[in-house]
Amino acid sequence: MAAADTMTLESFRSETRAWLEANCPQEMRRPFLSEEDACWAGRKWVFRSQAQRDWLERMAERGWTAPEWPQEYGGGALSREQAKILRQEMARLGCRPPLSSFGIWMLGPALLKYGSEEQRREHLLPITHGEIRWCQGYSEPNAGSDLASLQTRAEDRGDHFLVNGQKIWTSYADEADWIFCLVRTDVASKHTGISFLVFDMQTPGVSTKPITLISGKSPFCETFFDNVRVPKSGLVGVLNQGWDVAKYLLTHEREMLGALGEDASAQRVGQFACRNLGIGNGVLADPLLRSQIATLDVDAISFKAAMERAGDLTKARQANPALSSVLKYYGAELNKRRYELLMAAGGSDALEWHGERSRDGAMARAWLRSKGNSIEGGTSEIQLNIIAKRILALPNS
Ligand SMILES: Cc1cc2nc3c(=O)[nH]c(=O)nc-3n(C[C@H](O)[C@H](O)[C@H](O)COP(=O)(O)OP(=O)(O)OC[C@H]3O[C@@H](n4cnc5c(N)ncnc54)[C@H](O)[C@@H]3O)c2cc1C
Repeated sequence: MAAADTMTLESFRSETRAWLEANCPQEMRRPFLSEEDACWAGRKWVFRSQAQRDWLERMAERGWTAPEWPQEYGGGALSREQAKILRQEMARLGCRPPLSSFGIWMLGPALLKYGSEEQRREHLLPITHGEIRWCQGYSEPNAGSDLASLQTRAEDRGDHFLVNGQKIWTSYADEADWIFCLVRTDVASKHTGISFLVFDMQTPGVSTKPITLISGKSPFCETFFDNVRVPKSGLVGVLNQGWDVAKYLLTHEREMLGALGEDASAQRVGQFACRNLGIGNGVLADPLLRSQIATLDVDAISFKAAMERAGDLTKARQANPALSSVLKYYGAELNKRRYELLMAAGGSDALEWHGERSRDGAMARAWLRSKGNSIEGGTSEIQLNIIAKRILALPNS
């Protein structure tokens, strides 16, 4: 990198640091203790505090809820290097992400690549400002790993599609404002008969039914479509070629899920274990757990480096498209390991399910929730199949 570029980046770093220090409320500098601390925003959202609202509004105003998106769509137009600096400076100060959003993590990149200009203008700005919350209607009762078997039908009725069918495991469908959805528009062909639609969850005929998870929470739903009229303007990309959009979006979903592993910092696990199990000779008293936490730390640091490298390869258009499966697989496993260690460090107290001390069993519930990491966004077995075929080029058995 040229010296002038390095200087520019250094001044970007100091400006960013000063801005974050001035604008990130103290309350937003504490780590997430449970899923409830995330800000999903959207029409139905009730802000948990004024600080949560201020933080979202300030970051959105600056384009930093989607730092690398173009400015005209509400992004920050940062280069990859600048976005990395922003992440580093946020981490240094302990800033929470201002917005958790399937719109930013999944739909936005797909609209930037496949959407029409009208669709980008209609949807991207409300996404970056947290005005509209999205959910993902991919899985069906008989179409999970074999997603292309999906049966939800969209019939062409002239100026609109008539959608009938059922989705399942739709995360936060009952809290979302809009859905991006895979539908069958041609029954003659499996993969080339699928289209990608977006529509408002308030459209007549859309209903949701929450499903309770092992954690006792209900983060997802069955979603039903009963004669739902979707305007033709909701078709993203080309009719019957939605599979291309779906696959592209999935690579972003897998990267997002893989990033859970980046969060597998052993520091918090170590501190928690020391508090609970005590210190002997300046180190954690339990040698077995100490060694497991050290291994997690080394693996998490290596994974972070692998994520950075993957980002650089993607930018240079040299990344194998299946790389997202590597990141998803490993990130999910790391995050699950982190929660296993937190539970081990917490002893029987960590199993507390109700009560103020445990914030109603926040850790036990998060531990159980982490089990879903190796299922959502494509199971670990499916990721291993993809890696075997597309990266290792192993023959079909
Ligand atoms: C927490 C969570 C959130 C989710 N959120 C959403 C969402 O928002 N939107 C959405 O559309 N979906 C969502 N899903 C659904 C998720 O994408 C599916 O559960 C997943 O793709 C697996 O599909 P399935 O449940 O039908 O399992 P199946 O496909 O029936 O698989 C069952 C088992 O068989 C194995 N298996 C299947 N095929 C193969 C094969 N070829 N080789 C080896 N093993 C195989 C699988 O690995 C798995 O262990 C979510 C799931 C979870 C757990």
